Amino acid sequence: MTDKDNSDFGFATRAIRAGQVRSEENEHSEPIYTTSSYVFSSAAEAAARFSGERPGNIYSRFTNPTVRTFEERLASLEGTECCVATASGMSAITATIIGLLKTGDHIVSSRSIFGTTTVLLTNIIGKLGINTTFVELSDLSAWEQAITPQTKLLFLETPSNPLTELVDIAALSEIAHRHGCLLAVDNCFCTPALQQPVSLGADIVIHSATKYIDGQGRCVGGAVCGTKDVVGEGVYGFLRTAGPTMSAFNAWVFLKGLETLQLRMQAHSAAALELAGWLEQQPEVKTVYYPGLESHPQHELAKKQQKAFGGLLSFELNGGRKEGWALIDATRMLSITANLGDTKTTITHPATTTHGRLTPEQRAEAGISDSLIRVAVGLEDIEDIKADLLRGMR
Ligand SMILES: *Cc1c(COP(=O)(O)O)cnc(C)c1O
Repeated sequence: MTDKDNSDFGFATRAIRAGQVRSEENEHSEPIYTTSSYVFSSAAEAAARFSGERPGNIYSRFTNPTVRTFEERLASLEGTECCVATASGMSAITATIIGLLKTGDHIVSSRSIFGTTTVLLTNIIGKLGINTTFVELSDLSAWEQAITPQTKLLFLETPSNPLTELVDIAALSEIAHRHGCLLAVDNCFCTPALQQPVSLGADIVIHSATKYIDGQGRCVGGAVCGTKDVVGEGVYGFLRTAGPTMSAFNAWVFLKGLETLQLRMQAHSAAALELAGWLEQQPEVKTVYYPGLESHPQHELAKKQQKAFGGLLSFELNGGRKEGWALIDATRMLSITANLGDTKTTITHPATTTHGRLTPEQRAEAGISDSLIRVAVGLEDIEDIKADLLRGMR
C-alpha cells in the first residue's frame, strides 16, 4: 500500500515515513481525510467493492486513508504484518477478546493490569461466559498452572503500573504456545521504541495510543497489532461491524506522535532514571520502584527485554496517606492527574485513586501502600521536577 517499501529502514525513519501514500496533490505532510464515505465511478464498481471483489474504500467505519497510514506505520514499528486502529485503548482490548474468543473460552491475565481492564474482564467479558483467572505477573509457574484446556489467551502489561514489575515475555510466549494459546501484550508503557513484544514471541500487541503514542495528552485512541489471520480477520471483523474505529483526525495526531516517539521515549527514560536515582537518596523516601535502578529485582531482565526503562516510576515515603497527600498537595508544577505518557509530569496517589475501589486487603496483596506515589515523568526541566517533589518532603 505504501509508495516505497520502508522495511529496510531504521526505526526512526519508519516512524517518520512508513505508511504514507501521497495523493495527486503531492502534499508533503499526511492529509486528514475527513470523509465518512467514498464515491464509485459506476454501479458496477460499487458492486465490486461491496462484494470484496475489488479493493478500495467504501465507508470510514471500514477504512480511511489517514487511519490506514497510522496503522501501517505502527505495524512497521511493532514488526507485525498488520495493525488495526481503534477508538480507544479499551476498545482495542475489547475487540481483541470479542473478535477472537467465544463463550466457554478462558483467559489467563496478569493481576497487575490497568484498572478498567480488570473491570472489563470481570464484569463485561465475564458476562459473555468468557472467564478470566488472574495471576502474579512475574510468576511463570502460576501462569502455566492457571492454563486449562479452554484457555485461548494470555494477557499482560510489562512493566506493570504503578510498581514496575516485569515478566519475561520470551519465556511466557513459549509457555503460551506449548498450550496452544495466544499471548497478548499491552505495550502502552514501553511502546515499540523500547520493547517489541512480537520479536520476543508474543502474538498480539495492544496499545492505548492515548498515552505515549500521542505523547501530549490530546486524543483518545488505541490499536491492535499482529498477523493478518488473527488481527486482520478476527479483530478487524469485530471492529468494522461493532464500530469502535479511530477517527481520521485522531489518526493524524497519533501519526505526528509516532514521528517523535523514539526521541521522546529516550528523553522520558533518561529523566525517570535520573529522578529515580535522586529519590533513592532522599531520607524521606523508603523505597523506589523503577526497572532502571540496580536495586530493582528484575533490573537484568529489563536490560535484556527493553531498550530503556520508560517514564513511569513510583515510590513510598516514610509514613502513610497523610505524608503522601501532603507531598502531592505541596507541588506547584506537577499535574495531579492519573493520565500518563504526556510531556507534562503527572503525580497520583494510587491507594485513593486508581486502586481506591479495592479493599485494604486487596491493596495490600497488590503491594499498593498508603504512602505510595506514582510519577509519570514528563519532559520539563528535571531540576524543576525535583524541586516540586522536595516542596512536600521537607
Ligand atoms: C490507559 C490505558 C488503557 C486504556 O486506554 P484508553 O485509551 O484510556 O481506553 C489500557 N491499558 C493501559 C496500560 C493503559 O494505561
